[in-house]
Amino acid sequence: MQEHIESLQKLQTVDLRIRELTEGLTRYPNEINNLKKDLLEKEGSIKLKETNLAELKTQRDDLESSLLSNQESIKKSEERLFAIKTHKEYEALQKEITDTRRENLEIEDRTILVMTEIEETESALAEEKENYASLEGQYAQEIAEKEKKIEELEISRKPAEKEKSEILSTIDPKVLPLYEKIFKRNGRALALAENEKCTSCNMNIPPQLYNEVLKRTKLIQCPNCKKILYTK
Ligand SMILES: [Zn+2]
Repeated sequence: MQEHIESLQKLQTVDLRIRELTEGLTRYPNEINNLKKDLLEKEGSIKLKETNLAELKTQRDDLESSLLSNQESIKKSEERLFAIKTHKEYEALQKEITDTRRENLEIEDRTILVMTEIEETESALAEEKENYASLEGQYAQEIAEKEKKIEELEISRKPAEKEKSEILSTIDPKVLPLYEKIFKRNGRALALAENEKCTSCNMNIPPQLYNEVLKRTKLIQCPNCKKILYTK
């Protein structure tokens, strides 16, 4: 029975290692993906701002050319005023000039708003680009470190699995299902019993049962956490 316990202890050691390797082989690729995703999102936000900025600049240019063409038309109308004969025509042209001037005031107001938005977008864009550049470098380093860890874990996995199959060949197939059931459910299958206590769940072990553990003639489970008990 003592050999059983020793083999199970070895099995648990290698199982814990395999679990750690497997966990790392899931976690690091996920972390790498998250970093890449974050960069892509930031890149998307920069592109969106660049598109916005280009549209704003087009708007500004359109407003400026409307302003210029209106100024041009005011100038021409003013010249035409001198040549006008009737009072009615004169008034109509005056009104047209006044309306165009008012329109230009509105265009100027809108231009100021657009220019302010351009400035704000440019400054936000500069900040985002700077932030992106420093993150890009930082993430590249983090990704390289994580890729190295993945490589190391992959290298360790095969020997650990080989070791496990060697240990398995020494284990009585009758005790294996019990071990596997407890390991799966509790994260560990074995617990050290010391001073009539289970060191895993800290529960007292009844004296008679504790004696059985000490005798090592059969596998004894902790009455509370169900782990297989062993003694030093
Ligand atoms: Zn216990």
